[in-house]
Amino acid sequence: MVKEIGVGAAVAVLVFLGINGVDVWPLLLLLGLGIVVFATGLMNRLNVGQSRKVEVGVRSSVSFQDIGGQNTAKNELMEALEFVLRPDDMERLGIRPLKGILLTGPPGTGKTLLAKAAANYTDSIFLAASGSEFVEMYAGVGAQRVRQLFREARQIARKENLNSAIIFIDEIEVMAGRRGQHQSHLEYDQTLNQLLVEMDGMSTQEDVRILVMAATNRADLIDPALLRPGRFDRTVRVDLPDRMGREAILLLHTKNKPLAKDVNLGQIAVETFGFSGAHLESVCNEAAILALREDATIVTQGHFKSAIDKVLLGEKLDRHLRREELYRVAIHEGGHAIIGELVNPGSVSSITIAPRGMALGFVRQAPDDDRLLQTVSELKADIAVCLAGSTAERILLGEQSTGASSDFEKAWDIARRMVTSGLSSLGVVQEEALSPEVLYQTVQEIIRDSQELVDELVTSHQSSLLELAALLMEQETLPGERVRELVA
Ligand code: ATP
Repeated sequence: MVKEIGVGAAVAVLVFLGINGVDVWPLLLLLGLGIVVFATGLMNRLNVGQSRKVEVGVRSSVSFQDIGGQNTAKNELMEALEFVLRPDDMERLGIRPLKGILLTGPPGTGKTLLAKAAANYTDSIFLAASGSEFVEMYAGVGAQRVRQLFREARQIARKENLNSAIIFIDEIEVMAGRRGQHQSHLEYDQTLNQLLVEMDGMSTQEDVRILVMAATNRADLIDPALLRPGRFDRTVRVDLPDRMGREAILLLHTKNKPLAKDVNLGQIAVETFGFSGAHLESVCNEAAILALREDATIVTQGHFKSAIDKVLLGEKLDRHLRREELYRVAIHEGGHAIIGELVNPGSVSSITIAPRGMALGFVRQAPDDDRLLQTVSELKADIAVCLAGSTAERILLGEQSTGASSDFEKAWDIARRMVTSGLSSLGVVQEEALSPEVLYQTVQEIIRDSQELVDELVTSHQSSLLELAALLMEQETLPGERVRELVA
């Protein structure tokens, strides 16, 4: 509206000046120049090909053998890809073509790798883009990009003499969130609508069959219209790898590295509980970097152990603590380690008072096996380990410090989980119906009980704790076996 008034006023001024004998040609020329500059800028911003960072169509060299673990996801995916591999059979039986496969799971678990392997397996052209690349301020640009992506996929496949293409869209939740929820919803909605239109238009009769694969860490945000049959009608879960999966991934990423005889990938897999494939790749890489720094010709188990700490906590810091601070850290970490061994024998993998990332010290615990379920006593043991650091400080040094705040947070979370899972004195509860006061009291009760046990254990193991702290002051890092000897 303001724009229109401005243009009208400018025209009126020009006419007025012209009538009164003023030479308006230079002004008109200037105005014309301004319009050209503005239009060029707009075109550049709208230029689809220029700003989209799509991985242009390639033949993928990644195969399913290059992906460690993820056997369920691989099998599910291969089964779904039969649709692409046997188009004639599909048509003969009147089967509707598979148009989309959604890969869901945490970051770094190999979703992009699986999409690339799918392209290789089906001999398809592979085009990748990220959801965020389709969303711009200007309405219509995202939709135009979607159209262009599909067009490009067909063109490149034809050029390569292939009859199928896989379009991979990472972070699909950015462009395919529930419609009407975004502030600039018109642009988001148009982009998603265009994707749905393209998918609806795909058929087996085309010379290039397109399969859309998309990945997300937030399947809950996706517009249900996208998941309805005939669109993304296969969802494959890509979870964090289990112990065997981790070992398989480590094996793949150490293939090109000279390993010492002492390297035990099975043990590294045990100690990397909760790591994704990307974390494990990073562990292997960091281990080799550490070997390089030491001018070693082979990568040892020690390098791998330090690499795990680095990936978990960050780079070793050159921060020098005062001696009494360092001793406090030794007592604190010693408390975690000794109580850890008492409540969960064999669980401590290593203990260090070398600062890394945000941590001044650290006890690494290696669970025997991946745990999917935890019992009440296991949860209570975890709370006890969390409380042990500050308890050791209080009993042996006379007072606590601020170093335990994240331990308390963790203990609180576990206790809260116990309450909401029906494992507290309240019995089975409905979380929403629980008043904050009752929840608070019950969590407090659980933590108080654990605190009593930890106080007893720390008091009765004071001498081992003092010995462990002295050893740490001397050697900085100790293996779990040393803690076990002291506890025994
Ligand atoms: P994001 O959700 O963050 O996009 P993603 O699930 O797509 O992650 P990828 O990009 O496929 O993860 O994996 C990142 C890197 O991690 C890979 O290049 C590879 O080095 C390693 N990686 C992840 N999973 C595996 C696996 N199962 N086997 C081998 N390497 C893996």
